[in-house]
Formats: sequence, C-alpha cells, structure tokens
Amino acid sequence: MQKLQSFFYFSPLMLNLFKKRKITIAIDGHSSCGKSTLARDLAKKLRYIYVDSGAMYRAVTLYFIWNEIDLTNEIEIGSALNNIKIQFKTKRRKNLCYLNGELVEDDIRSQEVSDMVSEVAAISQVRRVLVEQQKAFGEKKGIVMDGRDIGTVVFPNAELKIFVTANIEVRSHRRYLELKTRGKEVPFDRVKANLIKRDTIDSTRDDSPLRQADDAIVLDNSELSTKQQLQAVLKLTKMYI
Ligand code: C5P
Repeated sequence: MQKLQSFFYFSPLMLNLFKKRKITIAIDGHSSCGKSTLARDLAKKLRYIYVDSGAMYRAVTLYFIWNEIDLTNEIEIGSALNNIKIQFKTKRRKNLCYLNGELVEDDIRSQEVSDMVSEVAAISQVRRVLVEQQKAFGEKKGIVMDGRDIGTVVFPNAELKIFVTANIEVRSHRRYLELKTRGKEVPFDRVKANLIKRDTIDSTRDDSPLRQADDAIVLDNSELSTKQQLQAVLKLTKMYI
C-alpha cells in the first residue's frame, strides 16, 4: 500500500506542469476590422478573460460628453478621470461595459461617441490611466485584449500578437450592419468617413499610435468568415499552449 501511494504522489510543482500554460494574446488593428469578434471568440474557446480596450476609451468619451469636459483643460480632465470607474461583466454570454455602475454598452457604441473617441484617446493623460488598468487586467495572463496599442505598449511581451486588417469597404459595411442591427440607421458614407477619420487620428497621434508590432502576425480577414479567422488564430496558439 505504502508503495502504491508513493507511486501516485505528484508534488504541486509536477501538477503545475500538467496544467496548460496560460499566455497573453494581443490583438490590434484598424477600426471595425473584426478584432473584437476575434478576441471574444478566442477568449471563449480558450476560457481566457476578454478585455475590449476600445470600450474603455469609449466609456471615458461618454463620461466627457455627459459632463461637458473641456478637452483642452488638463485639470478638468484629471478630476474627471478620478471619478470614472469602468467595469466589465458577462451576462447572457455578452461582455457588457459599465460606467460608474451604469450599463453603457449601447451608449458607448453611438455615432456621437465614435465621432469623438479618437480625440479623447489621443490625450496622454487619458491613456496613462487606462493603460495602467489594462496592464493590471493582464497580470495573471490567460487574457485576450484587443485595441490599437496592445502589442506595442500594453503587453509588449505578449506571447502572441495579431495585427488584424481588412479593406475599407468591407470594414465600413460590417460597421454599417452592426449599427443597423442595434437599431441605429447611420448613412453608409458617414460610417465610412468616421472609420477613415479614426484610423488617421489613431495612427498619427504622438502617444502610442496604432502600428503593427515588429513581432505581430498580420491577419487580413477581408475574405474570411468569423469562423475561419478564429480557426486560423487557434492554430497559431497551439505553438504556445
Ligand atoms: O476598438 P474601438 O473601435 O471600439 O475603439 C474606439 C477608439 O478607441 C479607437 O478608434 C481609438 O481611438 C481608441 N483606442 C485606442 N487604443 C486602444 C483601443 C482603442 O486609442 N487600445
């Protein structure tokens, strides 16, 4: 019996070796290229945490709109940032964003917020606060985060970095349909103009511009279904997990 027991004894260290290794996955890319869908699908499949960093910039923008914050006034911005608490909760398989305890998932996707978010996201004071929170979310790994600077600034040491892109017509169409599904009828040309404007501001700003990390893998999903893009990235994760 004694012999049998020692045969089956595994030290905690050995047990850890049997556990799957958790990694950090950073997904960046242009506006409405499907990176949030990919990140969400991937997190679900791997049972990882999913964080939509764009939703955080949108929530700050919404707060600034509601409270008429002057974007040129550092003191006003600073005290506003001290009063903002952003949380994510999963309900009925949906990842929902809360601003100071209030569900704002729909409000942060409005055209009004889309029109202003890139100007807010270009403010270093705002980025400093949100990047710190994003880094904290990823402390224990096992996370998929999507945004514009995840592979370059938030998680420069992420094991897997994907840079997603798709042509502008495809992206505009996807965004137009997404808004329509939410009951928001925004003219196609306005949707497209907003994406072009955001991409320009996001990639030319001084602080953490949108760019492909040197070690990122490019995924052009213009002609891929959501299922196909998920399969392609799942294959890549096999190298690390
Ligand atoms: O991802 P989504 O399109 O919702 O992001 C909205 C905006 O938030 C982007 O256009 C960009 O200006 C900003 N953003 C950012 N850095 C991130 C995520 C989003 O600057 N990591």
